[in-house]
Amino acid sequence: MKEYDEVRLPKYDCLLFDLDDTLYPVSFGLQSACSKNITDYMSEKLGIKDGEIPDLSNALYKTYGTTLAGLRAIGYNINYDEYHSFVHGRLPYENLKYDAVLRSLLLSLPYRKVIFTNADRIHAVKVLTLLGLEDCFEGIICFETLNRQQNFNSDATDSSPIFDIVGHFAKLDAEIELPKTPVLCKPSGESILQALQIADVDPDRTIFFEDSVRNIQSGKRIGLHTVLVGTSQRMKGADHSLESIHNLREAFPELWEDAKKLEEILYDGKVAIETSVTA
Ligand SMILES: [Mg+2]
Repeated sequence: MKEYDEVRLPKYDCLLFDLDDTLYPVSFGLQSACSKNITDYMSEKLGIKDGEIPDLSNALYKTYGTTLAGLRAIGYNINYDEYHSFVHGRLPYENLKYDAVLRSLLLSLPYRKVIFTNADRIHAVKVLTLLGLEDCFEGIICFETLNRQQNFNSDATDSSPIFDIVGHFAKLDAEIELPKTPVLCKPSGESILQALQIADVDPDRTIFFEDSVRNIQSGKRIGLHTVLVGTSQRMKGADHSLESIHNLREAFPELWEDAKKLEEILYDGKVAIETSVTA
């Protein structure tokens, strides 16, 4: 059995990628435009006073992962499709260009590759198509994947009061419990576990690429190998840090080396394995 034991499978079999600010740099300006659109949505569609929006969106984002998840938690009845088309409708998509370097890096890696984003499918497909990466992944886990059952209830009456989350934090009233959100999104551990289950991957054999430190930390707690993208600084929870996803080969030569080894095993290892099993 000795020879058989020496046949080692590659350490990883899946690469899980966040989308925005991970597969393209934050300097492209999509994130800042998106934040501006969310502010406009809160003002124009929900009638929240402009002066209250910065503190409110900050509290919601920090507490619930995304502003949308937070708005739902505190009592706003929001049509998800309308929200997504509003906040993603006017982004500077023209800044996203065909990325031949990333495309060839991804295609040269014979591992399962999956996108995991909090954004909606229309946005995800648009970004991947503009980057020329739409066929580099086996699937996209997005907002709709994790929130299929809980869309807008058009019959709901808006009679219930909105929870005052900014006031709640100002008073630090530990007696009152924060309302729960029906939206499942990163960085919640539950959202990551569900994504892993849907993609059918083993966290211990998966590398998670993300630009958000809190998502990375949450992924680490679940047992994923983590790579923080967008900075070369090491952070707690990140096994590696990459200034750009383009640095993948320099940072992880073993991904290609392992793949080559596996290819060799598959090519001429069959006989060796059979021999060792009967030995
Ligand atoms: Mg991101």
